[in-house]
Amino acid sequence: MDRNKVFFIVGSQDLYGEEPLRKVAENSQNIVNYLNKSNKLSADIEFLMVARNQQEIINAIKKANNDDDCIGIICWMHTFSPAKMWINGLKLLQKPMLHLATQANEFLPWGSIDMDFMNLNQAAHGDREFGYICTRMGIARKIVAGYYTDEATLSAIESWICGAYGVREAQTLRVARIGDNMRNVAVTEGNKVSAQIQFGFSVNTYGVGDVVECVNSVSTEEVKELLNLYEKLYTIPDKSKNSMNSIFEAAKQEIGLRKFLSEVGAKAFTTTFEDLHGLQQLPGLSCQRLMADGFGFGAEGDWKTAAMLRIIKVMTKNVKTSFMEDYTYHLEKGRERILGAHMLEVCPTIAANKPTLEVHPLGIGGKSDPARLIFSTARGKAINCSLLDMGDEFRMLANVVNTVEADEKMPALPVANAVWIPQPDFKIGVQKWIENGGAHHSVYSQALSVETLEDFCRMMNLKMILI
Ligand code: MN
Repeated sequence: MDRNKVFFIVGSQDLYGEEPLRKVAENSQNIVNYLNKSNKLSADIEFLMVARNQQEIINAIKKANNDDDCIGIICWMHTFSPAKMWINGLKLLQKPMLHLATQANEFLPWGSIDMDFMNLNQAAHGDREFGYICTRMGIARKIVAGYYTDEATLSAIESWICGAYGVREAQTLRVARIGDNMRNVAVTEGNKVSAQIQFGFSVNTYGVGDVVECVNSVSTEEVKELLNLYEKLYTIPDKSKNSMNSIFEAAKQEIGLRKFLSEVGAKAFTTTFEDLHGLQQLPGLSCQRLMADGFGFGAEGDWKTAAMLRIIKVMTKNVKTSFMEDYTYHLEKGRERILGAHMLEVCPTIAANKPTLEVHPLGIGGKSDPARLIFSTARGKAINCSLLDMGDEFRMLANVVNTVEADEKMPALPVANAVWIPQPDFKIGVQKWIENGGAHHSVYSQALSVETLEDFCRMMNLKMILI
């Protein structure tokens, strides 16, 4: 992930003369310096200007729009900045915005406060004028109120920055569908044109033959090199000829898939077990390893989850985030929980232990036994979220879950898994997920905060339902 920048734009007006505005610029630079030196933010903050009139505001916003390195703007109203001056600039704004309701002075100097102080410290006044016009114009923005050195302020800004990286990723992402959706499945379908209009990412289909061509072009030397890496990273309990042949084929698929995705410029992709012509096994290991490297993935043609997985991996710097599926319930009274897994494709970034690399038969797909990484998931809080196409709009459904250990080992279910208890409890979590049309596929993340997901959805004009 590249480190990008956020422009810091200060709202003012011409009323005060040169000297106070010079002081405002100095205060602005101090705030920006503090934010940058805090080491709490994933983007560099760059003080752009103190904007005093409509033209300067338009200039600032055009500059932010046109700078590819800029992921958003922070607006600070040090004083009253008459908001009719902002209308034409805000109409042009194409980047996410954060309105920082703060002040240069932390303490009100009760004994000496005078009009000179007010000229520099009138955010309470200016915030309302700016807020009114943003609300009236329907400008999506995050409002963060508090002194700029406060930990909570920094954390709220950082959450927004992560969301802004997600927005930037959504706008440029390409999702490659290798084959179509699984036949007859409803929830993985959706309107790809509507998705591109709202989010920006494009979703296009490729024949599995295009991938097969890449897989067949892989040399034995390339495969052997990758097998050496597998030996280092994973425990391989069965090194029999059959097992190693299957792992050899999986490695070949991985290299082929990487070549294919690089050729089409996709950072997210889907597969389907119903369309594997020319592939010897369902790509399991390769999907897991590509996810571990930050690719988005959705099984059975699920392009919405593939796109969201990639976007959330960007927002979480690819920490502890995976494709997931609700598998089966444990309904012991008072200890209800859900076992999540997939046929093969769970991302090793959520692994609690060193994964084992194993080959086992797979009942569906009608192909040879596929290789896969097997592990359990670390305990801890996570978010499950699901992007849904409801026909007339997209929605984001999210549920916080507590990941727990499995009661016992599951030797007859050789797949990576996670066990969790939905919040606030099993009954409500499950009822509300179903009631809101949540999919069986989700993005599972132990690194994503509810706040960042909310920030992202607000910027994307996407309705979010949090259970
Ligand atoms: Mn599935």
